[in-house]
Amino acid sequence: MAGKSQGPAIGIDLGTTYSCVAVWRHNRAEIIPNDQGNRTTPSYVAFGETERLLGGSAKILVAMNPTNTIFDAKRLIGRRFSDPLVQSDKELWPFKVVAGLDDKPMILVNYKGKEKKFVAEEISSMVLAKMKETAESFLGLMVKNAVITVPAYFNDSQRQATKDAGTIAGLNVLRIIVEPTAAAIAYGLDKEFSYPNEKRNVLIFDLGGGTFDVSLLTMENSVFKVKAIAGDTHLGGEDFDNRIVDHCAQVFKRKHKKDIRMDPRALRRLRTSCERAKKNLSSATETTIGIDCLYDGIDFDYRITRAKFEELNMDLFYKCIKHVKECLDDANMEKESIHDVVLVGGSSRIPKVQQMLQDFFNGKELCKSIHPDEAVASGAAIQAAILTGQGNPVIQDILLCEVTPLSLGVHMEGDVMSVLIPRNTAIPTKKESIFVTCSDNQTSVKIQVFEGERAKTTDNNLLGKFQLTGIPPAPRGQAKITICFDIDANGILNVSAEELTTGNRKDMTIINDKGRLSSGEIERMLREAEFFKAEDEQYRRKVEAKNDLESYVYRMRSKIENDMNFSLILTYSDKKKVELATKMATDWLESNQLAGEGELKDKMKEVESICEPIIAKMYSNGSAPNIHEVD
Ligand code: ADP
Ligand code: MG
Repeated sequence: MAGKSQGPAIGIDLGTTYSCVAVWRHNRAEIIPNDQGNRTTPSYVAFGETERLLGGSAKILVAMNPTNTIFDAKRLIGRRFSDPLVQSDKELWPFKVVAGLDDKPMILVNYKGKEKKFVAEEISSMVLAKMKETAESFLGLMVKNAVITVPAYFNDSQRQATKDAGTIAGLNVLRIIVEPTAAAIAYGLDKEFSYPNEKRNVLIFDLGGGTFDVSLLTMENSVFKVKAIAGDTHLGGEDFDNRIVDHCAQVFKRKHKKDIRMDPRALRRLRTSCERAKKNLSSATETTIGIDCLYDGIDFDYRITRAKFEELNMDLFYKCIKHVKECLDDANMEKESIHDVVLVGGSSRIPKVQQMLQDFFNGKELCKSIHPDEAVASGAAIQAAILTGQGNPVIQDILLCEVTPLSLGVHMEGDVMSVLIPRNTAIPTKKESIFVTCSDNQTSVKIQVFEGERAKTTDNNLLGKFQLTGIPPAPRGQAKITICFDIDANGILNVSAEELTTGNRKDMTIINDKGRLSSGEIERMLREAEFFKAEDEQYRRKVEAKNDLESYVYRMRSKIENDMNFSLILTYSDKKKVELATKMATDWLESNQLAGEGELKDKMKEVESICEPIIAKMYSNGSAPNIHEVD
């Protein structure tokens, strides 16, 4: 944990379209305005002939330099170039994205007359650096420590890449937290003393610039769990802007018989005005879109009412409500069971959206006491203060915790899921377990990491795998390998394996190409696990019985073959008996792969009935004093 001496710690909401920074001061989270006096800053970076522009100044000039003005880096971060989402987004961007090493998307720009390639982390790091600088000039202090937020659906690789972006920006990333949780914290919904011993269901409605995310959280003892997520990766403020732009272009065409759509610069100027008008319409009922010399020397002047704006976007607003319903269905919850509905994202300031949401929840009051587009950054700042031991005792009370949505484990012989971290374990967490080799002279093991609740790994979700080699040859069961699962506070899983005698070690951070499972998929897996519980239990017991029999046979064999104490004093006929019994068992196992628990146990008894008397006889003779049983 970083100490007070390390200076202030900030919270950054790194948004797809806008970013926001806040700090804990004077016993509250304070939003930090940028150099233009704005409380949110466009997540834009422009590369020019002579300089690089960041934030508002990059966005305002986008029409002048469309191919070198980069936005939406958050849509690329931690993804592969071949990801279908990257492929479809790429078509919509005016800048170029190409495949780099290891299928990493690279953004191509012309900067100061030279071609340059950037990864998304670098672009995001420039936005983060701008936010850091904003905070530094506001506070008059150097800022190092920060909490950065990510969407709830971000997988490990996207979270890791966001953290990397922070590091590149010169920040010490204290923690990555998810946006809905940050918003809930900002509203103080996590304060246990407000709702002692009560479980609360919180719906977070995040309508931003380019994306719409609905998350359903449950809060118990100040711990939030994400229950379900729904939404649309292409629904937000920009779509509302486009509807006004289209409408204005039609008005212009009707009046002047000229199509401004032919002129990208005119279109961009119009879009900027439309966005401003849209924002005005959240407080005023009427506003003007006025642009001098918009096209062909003709001015554009148009009065738009809030009612017209709503009419132009009604279908999109309905879509939002549909996703809220989906989210509730996914979590198998009635709207009546939601305790708090929290507004997040600049576009949730739109009165019609608020009204429709409130109507959907039968008139329930929405949490909107702080600006929706500032809630996430505020929550991040509170978290940053907690982590650095700042702030008053009130915020120190807040216990913040995320949990693992599914159990995490490794594949064991016989398609068995061996769980290291059970589901719902609070993170960060670290668990170790010792495993042994399953065949003689095995020199390498394949570590396969799975998530899920089923007994067989094949029924679970594979997260990643790697090979540990260089294991010294030894009889089955003798080489020991420690496997360690370490989940950091950001939810990033590191798996390591170490062979104990040589210290030979290998590890990996789980980067999941397919992305972590969606909450819908998680729910499905949990339902399935419940459904198959009895069957899974039966399978587990069967595998256990099989393992018991196999290790017994193995132990007996190694006793008569390798153990000098035994082999020297064993009579020929006893030795033969053990040999035959163990061979009979292995042959039987070979030809009865599908044998059930009962049959396996019977077979075990049969072998034991032959071997045990022989072993017992020897112990009673006192002939084998230094036998060391290794199980
Ligand atoms: P992000 O999606 O990047 O996290 P935000 O949550 O800040 O971004 O949302 C940005 C969007 O919110 C933009 O489309 C912006 O036009 C819109 N917005 C901001 N303020 C208002 C407002 N008062 N009324 C309507 N829309 C707004
Ligand atoms: Mg946002």
